[in-house]
Amino acid sequence: MQTIAFIGLGNMGGGMAANQAKAGRTVRAFDLSQAALGTAAEAGCVACTSADEALHGAEAVITMLPAGKHVLGVYQNHVLPHAEDGALLIDCSTIDVDSARQVATLARDAGKGFRTADAPVSGGTAAADAGTLAFMVGSAESDFKAVEALLDPMSRVTIHAGDSGAGQAAKICNNMLLGISMIGTCEAFALAERLGLSADRFYEISSQSSGQNWSMTSYCPVEGIGPASPADRNFEGGFATDMMLKDLRLAKEAAMSSGAVTPMGGHAEALYALLSEQGLGGKDFSSVIELLAKGTVK
Ligand code: NAD
Repeated sequence: MQTIAFIGLGNMGGGMAANQAKAGRTVRAFDLSQAALGTAAEAGCVACTSADEALHGAEAVITMLPAGKHVLGVYQNHVLPHAEDGALLIDCSTIDVDSARQVATLARDAGKGFRTADAPVSGGTAAADAGTLAFMVGSAESDFKAVEALLDPMSRVTIHAGDSGAGQAAKICNNMLLGISMIGTCEAFALAERLGLSADRFYEISSQSSGQNWSMTSYCPVEGIGPASPADRNFEGGFATDMMLKDLRLAKEAAMSSGAVTPMGGHAEALYALLSEQGLGGKDFSSVIELLAKGTVK
């Protein structure tokens, strides 16, 4: 694939498109934001004045947009009517499973020989910039090799999750687990403190015991404990509470529509919603420790 249309050049898409250009591909880029377009042009992309112009001559299309309604809108109004016949269409946004499946169905029904994949990512803006994202892919098995090759300049690992929608399902389940495990980790540190147990001693013990988990040992919510994390910079940067809330709401919708029982996911959503209502949605999601330990966030 030498010519790619890239639509959505925000915090994530900007770095991802730049890595495609760095790999020597012609990247026909579009975003509603002029600033994002300018940055993409500086990174070697071809700045286009509309989505339709970006699609011209592209063998593959990558979208990185905020939510399901944006993806459906861009697909229905631009990609499906204007993409080249036979193009490989990959949506990397985090969206609901039903919209992802709808996109695949609409693409198939367009009768233009499109191949589609939902390929949401794990890893934040640093991984997007560095080209070290983890992709979870929902696509026909027979399309996976082409999808993997296209994503390669942006990827540390690319895993086939299953058919259309399976990438989004994996992303939503993973992030629900992350939201729950972070709150559990924060609760344990808050209780340890009340019991007079120092945070560093509790970390030393629990990180080598059965309570060990990623939220503790790779992204510790306590300042000065474990590897550097947003807790060491007043919870600035990292993965925003509002983004986690979005993913937990997607998980809740998916649980309701599939009949799954996810009470802990529901509790996690309520706690993150409380933080967001306090105007703290922009802080890293590990700041929930302050709510649990002190009843408020700085
Ligand atoms: P963002 O808001 O920074 O970027 C989205 C971009 O889409 C914006 O630049 C916006 O102008 C553009 N856009 C919206 N509608 C458009 C349209 N119709 N045509 C062209 N451009 C349009 O968001 P982001 O942080 O880059 O996240 C993108 C997706 O990646 C989201 O689904 C998010 O959940 C997911 N994600 C984000 C992170 C993260 O850490 N930021 C991590 C993993 C996954």
